[in-house]
Amino acid sequence: MKSYKLAARTCSGERTMIRVGEVTIGGPELVVIAGPCAVEGREAYLQLALQLKEMGAHLLRGGAFKPRTSPYSFKGLGREGLEILAEARRVTGLPVVTEILDARDLEAVSACADILQVGSRNMQNFTLLQELGRAGRPVLLKRGLSATIEEWLLAAEYILAAGNPNVILCERGIRTFETATRNTVDIGAVPLVRELSHLPVIVDPSHATGRRRLVPPVARAAVAAGADGLMIEVHQNPDLALSDGPQSLHPEGFQKLMQELRPIAAAVGREVRLSKKENNQLAVDTAATRLLSDSPGDI
Ligand code: PEP
Ligand code: MN
Repeated sequence: MKSYKLAARTCSGERTMIRVGEVTIGGPELVVIAGPCAVEGREAYLQLALQLKEMGAHLLRGGAFKPRTSPYSFKGLGREGLEILAEARRVTGLPVVTEILDARDLEAVSACADILQVGSRNMQNFTLLQELGRAGRPVLLKRGLSATIEEWLLAAEYILAAGNPNVILCERGIRTFETATRNTVDIGAVPLVRELSHLPVIVDPSHATGRRRLVPPVARAAVAAGADGLMIEVHQNPDLALSDGPQSLHPEGFQKLMQELRPIAAAVGREVRLSKKENNQLAVDTAATRLLSDSPGDI
């Protein structure tokens, strides 16, 4: 018997699928969450959100409450940031993921976000986890900075046991002796956790590496290892970002990555949604093929 019970994979092997808007996390489709580390301002966020949608992102991310190591760093726009997220959701139609730091903000965050994120630093904030168990919104639970897989699954168990069956696990790298990267990404955790638990598992290659150049290869590795999705930080101008600029992709980098992911996802039996541009192209191609096959010259 495992120490976690509700999080454990059942005999039937059935997996939890979490439906948010038109997206299903944990199903056959690879789900990509994208956006800046923090919401920094209305215009910039809305513009980026629209761009990300065009490029095929399924959900938007953006911190309104930022847990920063230094108390003097930018800690997010707070409630104003939540309003901007809500507007981005209205404008794009994409669901929104944002971090909740304090259970006292639960109502306000739930009003503006579709998925509540528990950051690494709060993975073992058991009172917060229990509150989220009663939240009525899916929870994205990031692996703690130095949490074992069992501790991570037990943290998920807190949310499940409090009555919320919709938990998404997010591997974001762990702290090791290695300092060349921001964290050490545990790719092996992806297949292992999918074996141990029925919950969806996604990977955040941005916080896992801390370096923009490493984000695409680690994202590709995560998909190859069977991740149900990815969470990627993207900023219009990473050099000016108020947090995590060095690990943020430029929009063009994100677009390129989305294309690179397709053959890898297909190779491991996952579907990848087409971007609007590709969909339009497909419609044109199909119409052209139809026209050609209908033409008398074809007979
Ligand atoms: C984040 O995703 O905004 C974040 C702070 O990440 P982590 O909790 O993994 O450090
Ligand atoms: Mn960040």
